[in-house]
Amino acid sequence: MFKIFSNDPVHDPIKKQESITEIKKTTCYMCACRCGIRAHLRDGELVYIDGNPEHPLNQGVICAKGASGIMKQKSPARITQPLLRKAGSNRGDGEFEAISWDRAFEILTKRLSHIRATDPKKFALFTGRDQMQALTGLFARQFGTPNYAAHGGFCSVNMAAGMIYTIGGSFWEFGGPDLDQAKLFVMIGTAEDHHSNPMKIALSKFKRAGGRFISINPVRTGYSAIADEWIPIKPGTDGALFMALMHELIRLEKYDAPFLKRFSNSAQLVCMDDGAEEGLFLYDPDSDPINLDLPHNKYIWDEQTQSAQPCFKQGTSPVLLGEYTMGPGPHQGKKVVPAFELLKRQVSETTPEWASAITSISAERIRKLALEIADTAFGQEFELPISWTDSWGEKHDSVTGRPVAFHAMRGLSAHSNGFQTTRGLAVLMSLLGTIDRPGGFRHKAPYPRQVPPNAKPPSSENDIKPNTPLAKPPLGWPTQPEDLALDSQGNPLRIDKAYSWEHPLAAHGLMHNVITNAVKGDPYSIDTLMIFMANMSWNSTMNTMEVREHLNAKNSDGEFKIPFLVVCDAFQSEMVDFADLVLPDTTYLERHDVMSMLDRPISEFDGPVDSVRIPVLEPLGECKPFQEVLIELASRLKFPAFTTPEGERKFKDYPDFITRFQTAPDSGIGFLGGWRGKDGEKPLKGEPNPNQWEKYAENNCVHQYHMPPEHQYMRNWNKGYLDFSKENALRQKNDPIMIAVYSDILQRFRLAATGKRPGAQPPAHLKDRIYKYFDPLPFWYPPLEDEVTDLSKFTLNAITQRPMAMYHSWDSQNAWLRQIHSHNYLYVNTATALTHGIADGAWMWIESQWGKVKCMARHSEAVDPETVWTWNAIGKAESAWSLSDNADESKKGFLLNHLISEKLTLGGFTVSNSDPITGQAGWYDVRVRLAPAGDDELQETWPQVKAHEVPGMSLKKEAGK
Ligand code: SF4
Repeated sequence: MFKIFSNDPVHDPIKKQESITEIKKTTCYMCACRCGIRAHLRDGELVYIDGNPEHPLNQGVICAKGASGIMKQKSPARITQPLLRKAGSNRGDGEFEAISWDRAFEILTKRLSHIRATDPKKFALFTGRDQMQALTGLFARQFGTPNYAAHGGFCSVNMAAGMIYTIGGSFWEFGGPDLDQAKLFVMIGTAEDHHSNPMKIALSKFKRAGGRFISINPVRTGYSAIADEWIPIKPGTDGALFMALMHELIRLEKYDAPFLKRFSNSAQLVCMDDGAEEGLFLYDPDSDPINLDLPHNKYIWDEQTQSAQPCFKQGTSPVLLGEYTMGPGPHQGKKVVPAFELLKRQVSETTPEWASAITSISAERIRKLALEIADTAFGQEFELPISWTDSWGEKHDSVTGRPVAFHAMRGLSAHSNGFQTTRGLAVLMSLLGTIDRPGGFRHKAPYPRQVPPNAKPPSSENDIKPNTPLAKPPLGWPTQPEDLALDSQGNPLRIDKAYSWEHPLAAHGLMHNVITNAVKGDPYSIDTLMIFMANMSWNSTMNTMEVREHLNAKNSDGEFKIPFLVVCDAFQSEMVDFADLVLPDTTYLERHDVMSMLDRPISEFDGPVDSVRIPVLEPLGECKPFQEVLIELASRLKFPAFTTPEGERKFKDYPDFITRFQTAPDSGIGFLGGWRGKDGEKPLKGEPNPNQWEKYAENNCVHQYHMPPEHQYMRNWNKGYLDFSKENALRQKNDPIMIAVYSDILQRFRLAATGKRPGAQPPAHLKDRIYKYFDPLPFWYPPLEDEVTDLSKFTLNAITQRPMAMYHSWDSQNAWLRQIHSHNYLYVNTATALTHGIADGAWMWIESQWGKVKCMARHSEAVDPETVWTWNAIGKAESAWSLSDNADESKKGFLLNHLISEKLTLGGFTVSNSDPITGQAGWYDVRVRLAPAGDDELQETWPQVKAHEVPGMSLKKEAGK
């Protein structure tokens, strides 16, 4: 009775409960963190999920979402059979007939084989937050269509691209803060959803060890609530803060000069002469370029000889500042400066006072922050006695710790200035010397990679041919205008205009523009759009109501403008209504899956880690994993990689594909790195092992490879690690990965805009845009939407974030999680709300220039007075997700997306409301105003939208038992 007062544990998670007959291990997918879980079964029925204590990522920790997976499994919103829209019905009416999988595959095979044989780009495959982009990308490439991307263009491509184009790695799956060794942690623009359990575990240890945690965010929720200090900031202004911090560090000479000289391009000489070389590094024809893609044979200015010297020559002393003239040689007489000199000039005016007026943080606080990060980085420097050898053969006895760690995500990313903002953060971290050092930012395999990685997107019509795989992968990393995905007339090759002059470095595509572009035939029409796990008629789109109209738009002949729409989903999302063909997916508990080194693995700082899902339950009804759908279609369509030389099907099913597929004949590299080799004796690389799945099953569904300590730090320039990464195909080359404080890649695009560079040039109407935004150094500019907004009317910023109890739109169907959030409020600073006459809990209107929404207000002191915010994707269409007609989600919950425009007209032409460099959706840029709802107004959210139950959900009673 008084057990709670004793020292005995109330609940022993290790002890097997009597009623449990079986425990199976797999990997969670209630969010993207991929924690190890244990599914507890009683006579084959799932009764309990907990964290796997033996899993390296979460070590037994489980969150509310993870434990509630059981109610996702039992969701009455499960779709259980393939469905075909009834002839003559409209999309959105939800009129379907059930069909067999054989018929579904026949329909798809006939349609897709015709497209593939005639014009492969008429097939587009776009996916949501899936964890199998290596497979979906391979499918698109083998099909021969460039029209493929996942959700990154809507989510955080600015974070990925801004960092990867600067330091060769990024936050989230590819790197993160080393909180075990940090003393100061600065988190900026991060909600709870990115790195949930691992971040919570790390933060609790960090705080217990006495670390200081500063959160910079317009909203103080989640992680920010336990920060030692919260610094509110206006959305979209983080870049200005970084510019001011760099200004202060350089003004005070508090930067890691030896690190910058040796490991970044800061000391390398940039040509200042007008013409084709202006702003580009000069190259020494007598030195080895080492890497022909991104040559290393540049110059530095040597302080001792007062001359330009090859940049890695022994015995030289590079300078970071000054202006020089090249002496005798191939560049004689050219004016040059070290790149760092240009950075210093770039930040000369970005004072704390300048940033204060933009960010709403006081100049004094910015100065104090600059001093604090510098004092921690340099004043608390430490050495770890780990010897390592750098790329130039120099041996080092230790690695230096600079214990300032940062973490950032969508709060920086989802703005139209997010790429340059992220570049600003990456350069700031580089000034502090915290890249892949103890206590700072650390990479996770397969990163670091070349700056940027060597894959290039298709760049001509010749890369896209009928019945032929694409010559290049659909997504890649341009380094020059010639890499853009343009036809010979300069028109976009892709339906989403990724890699066009409108968004040249669109590394994750622009899924948010696909439907509108396809309906408008801009740049061309398509035939079949296949959507997997993306709710594009609701929360994964910007102008929701218009997109819903687009999905039903018809030509004058009565045919749909997007002739065939295939939706694969496990649940009755708002998107399912619009499908012509619905493919019922399984849940994560019913399928095999891999978190692959070819994609986004769960690597740790100390080495590569990949993991799998192994089914713990049989699929419900006729559900089939999308993985199996792709393998089946690829086999039926006879893609080369899925067909034997004799023309036969190569892989029996998805598990067989994962076991036997290799990236190239006999490469020894496949989707999984664990237990390779015939007997499973080889890590990372080796022949296929027929028993590989069994080995993962025996080992907590995870393969962890620990590198020796001498390979764990300074990996951009660590010879031992770079050799290891090349040997195991994490990289193609083993040359050093220099930090691009100055990006000559961006400068190439800028030169194209000025006409000074030979080769491809932007069209006249985009020249100024390219010139302005492709600054080779970070800079801050206001979000593009500000240019077309009356800021005196729309004075407030509006943003969203995902709650820690729900992930995307998946969890409003979850009977347990709905008890935490069944509807969302608009959180408004109390003073702001009172100024507008809006009471706590009252109905109100939030309006942008693009639309308005009725919602309920919640007063809050934990939000900046000029910002309002809400949880994302809790509001639902009526009857969607098998919720009742009067569910809170549709009557009280609301979607901020109705206020956001997909397109902006800037300077007389219309473009995507996205970052002009990467195409990242600028959905955090919207400006709004507030008004109380009238007493006579209906107390329910507006707009109201209706979804429909689909056949097969009659199994819902059985599913929900
Ligand atoms: S953090 Fe994400 S992956 Fe981990 S248990 Fe929670 S929902 Fe599952």
